[in-house]
Amino acid sequence: MRLCSVAVADFRNIRTVHIEPGERFNLLYGLNGQGKTNLLEAIYLLGNPRSFRTFRLPELVRHGERQARIYGSVESGGIENNLQLVIEAAGRKVQIDGKAVHKASELHGKLNAVIFSPDDTGMVRMGPESRRRYLDRAVYMGDIGYLHCWHSYHRILKQRNHLLKSSDRTGLDIWTEKLAETGAEVIERRLKFVAVLDTTLQKYYATIAGGSETSRLGYQPEGVISTEQGPIREELLELFKRHQRSDERYGTTTAGPHRDDLTFMLDERPLKAFGSQGQQKSFVLALKMAEMDNLHDTFGESPLLLLDDMSSELDACRNHNLMEFLTTREIQVFITTTERSPSLLEAAPHCAVFHVEDGNLTFEGN
Ligand code: ATP
Ligand code: MG
Repeated sequence: MRLCSVAVADFRNIRTVHIEPGERFNLLYGLNGQGKTNLLEAIYLLGNPRSFRTFRLPELVRHGERQARIYGSVESGGIENNLQLVIEAAGRKVQIDGKAVHKASELHGKLNAVIFSPDDTGMVRMGPESRRRYLDRAVYMGDIGYLHCWHSYHRILKQRNHLLKSSDRTGLDIWTEKLAETGAEVIERRLKFVAVLDTTLQKYYATIAGGSETSRLGYQPEGVISTEQGPIREELLELFKRHQRSDERYGTTTAGPHRDDLTFMLDERPLKAFGSQGQQKSFVLALKMAEMDNLHDTFGESPLLLLDDMSSELDACRNHNLMEFLTTREIQVFITTTERSPSLLEAAPHCAVFHVEDGNLTFEGN
């Protein structure tokens, strides 16, 4: 998959930018606060329903303007698609080849991009919610059916919680059964995804960190030991029954896939408690690489890789390992740094270089 051209207007601090990125490596360098991450965010948004930075659409529109616009021409499987995104405070409008798109699923797979940014490492140390958000987004990217069952589950959860809060609990059993039904589908799809990623994670961790530590990704949903939807459904029903008393007391569903967590282990120990910052960063990067692999297998071609703030992320050795690996793959990569790093340019052949200043981009050559 390749982004052949991208045009951005009135998006965050970018007034107008139009570039034709290089097929392989692209370096966007500039001082702090100039618009490097903003450009990566614009690219990411072309293929994703949500930003990796914010849920609030008005933040994305340049101060004083009414709407932000992003256009991209994407080559995938020999076919070129033109994607257009208009963002306003009230909502976003997407067009593919001039035709309005109303469902998120229609955009699915049109521009796959995996981002690795400084904020991502936070998910190791933060609460389960950020890991769940990552998991849900990552599963959805490679599994179009996931969004539908995720929405169903959350719709039913809302209904059940509403009943739990009210004095009349008629119908609670029916909602509980429905919740177990859709919850089992959510869990089955998550388990499949985690099992695939766990098998490749180890390889990528070794590629980046060069060490011999064993890295594991785990997902152990509460009350569930089965991996197939039918038995998971029964186990979830049991779980909901066990928690019914406390659910009624708190007026909310206190266990289930909406509370589950991912586990990150290094040498059989929790990465959160025992991993150094560098190990945590390497782990998350390896996770993203495994995710790219999975997307490659699903779609038959690599997603874009957006590496934000590379200079601050990894040490020189790990950076070198990463670049060496990336040169062996057919991946279009966008890297942002604060300096026009000579070692990076040496490692990235034919890298297209862009200087970012005050929301403007200047092409400086390959
Ligand atoms: P760093 O190296 O510090 O990560 P960066 O080049 O990645 O910097 P960005 O995050 O891309 O910086 O851009 C930040 C700039 O964009 C800030 O100056 C911020 O004030 C500006 N900005 C963010 N949202 C808007 C908006 N809606 N309208 C105008 N400017 C905005
Ligand atoms: Mg930035």
